[in-house]
Amino acid sequence: MPITAPIVIAGSGPAGSALALYLAQRGIPVLLLEKEATLPVDLRASTFHPPSLEMLADLGEGVIDRMLAKGLRVDTYQYRDRRTNEVATFDMKLIADATRFPFRLQLEQYELTAIIGEVLKRHPHADVRFRHEVTGFSQDADGVDVRVRAPGGETVVRAPFLVGCDGAHSVVRKQAGIEYAGFTYDEKFLVVSTPFPFEQVFPNFSYVNYVADPQEWCVVLRTDKRWRVLFPTRPENADDEALLLSDGYIQERLHHLHDKAGAYEIGHRSLYAVNQRVAETYARGRIVLAGDACHINNPLGGMGMNGGLHDAFNLAERLVRIVRDGADHAAEFAHYDRQRRQLAVRFVQEHTIANKKLMEATDAGTQDRRQQWLNATAADPVQARAFLLERAMINCVRDSLAVA
Ligand SMILES: Cc1cc2nc3c(=O)[nH]c(=O)nc-3n(C[C@H](O)[C@H](O)[C@H](O)COP(=O)(O)OP(=O)(O)OC[C@H]3O[C@@H](n4cnc5c(N)ncnc54)[C@H](O)[C@@H]3O)c2cc1C
Repeated sequence: MPITAPIVIAGSGPAGSALALYLAQRGIPVLLLEKEATLPVDLRASTFHPPSLEMLADLGEGVIDRMLAKGLRVDTYQYRDRRTNEVATFDMKLIADATRFPFRLQLEQYELTAIIGEVLKRHPHADVRFRHEVTGFSQDADGVDVRVRAPGGETVVRAPFLVGCDGAHSVVRKQAGIEYAGFTYDEKFLVVSTPFPFEQVFPNFSYVNYVADPQEWCVVLRTDKRWRVLFPTRPENADDEALLLSDGYIQERLHHLHDKAGAYEIGHRSLYAVNQRVAETYARGRIVLAGDACHINNPLGGMGMNGGLHDAFNLAERLVRIVRDGADHAAEFAHYDRQRRQLAVRFVQEHTIANKKLMEATDAGTQDRRQQWLNATAADPVQARAFLLERAMINCVRDSLAVA
């Protein structure tokens, strides 16, 4: 039977938005349901890696032009050791032969969802509804009855497929009975933004810096608006949000990074639990997951949103084949699971766990070995290129597509 009813997508974060646009552009009707009243604006992903930029560029309709116009292009990024003042600088020009976008784009993820949101308004095949929360579903051999809480009350929408792009606490995943295996770190991460010009006090400061320190590591990133600093907090304080988000605590952290005269102006501040989890399966029947709904990791390396976008584009091609060409959805979803889930476990989880370990070691010997390794890798163009292909997620996208 031909599929004509809209595919329901729960959640208009980066994964859901990109998926909806890709399908709508190909004339496949989508119903994108977002529980919030507007697109969420919060301090989350800010790094776009080259493969994500390529996929977003292929959407056309000015998406990449607007991203590039708004974001900061980062050609180099650095690993700094505050004890020795050594800096390993990785130059992304070394991978210029491997990608159309040999740089990291620093841009808030909410800018992407806003750009796609504007484009979606022009598409007759996309129906985007805010204040529409997916609360559950039941499925049979032919389709899914999706329960939706909307301002007018509860409704049920019949759909050929339901895609859960509804983030880490995914209702779709939970209701499908899919386990989210993994662990939560004991400590929370604190992210703050400030207009203070760190580039004027740290020599030759790149827009992306991983800073090792005997007492407290941090990540210092620039977006088009401000500097943003990410700090780990102490596990014993994990439940004391009032302390960790207080002016005094934040000022102390920033002053440890750079002890300037007077208080820092603070923009956003947010505190969040850090998890390493991958869903036991990415699909069950006519339910399929993408993005944080099926994998989450610590933000060191900037792989969460990027991995979610890679899921969305992989899944989008499959949904086109299913709807347009009559491909078997069970086979397509099983292949999606093999390509994307194995990779999330093997690549993203391994890398992000290793990145965190690399940053948090505090003894001098381990710090020295880490910085020596980074210095030697950055100084050798062959090794630096291999390092960048891995960290820029180019290898992982290639590897995933090779999985039969
Ligand atoms: C501080 C921080 C920094 C980060 N930095 C990076 C980085 O630099 N690079 C990177 O790649 N990743 C980073 N990440 C991870 C990144 O933010 C996430 O991986 C990304 O947001 C996942 O996108 P998503 O579309 O899967 O889910 P989300 O962005 O969480 O979007 C889910 C959407 O679904 C909606 N929703 C939820 N439940 C329902 C429901 N039942 N019905 C309807 N709608 C629903 C939500 O309101 C939301 O809009 C960072 C995360 C944090 C917390």
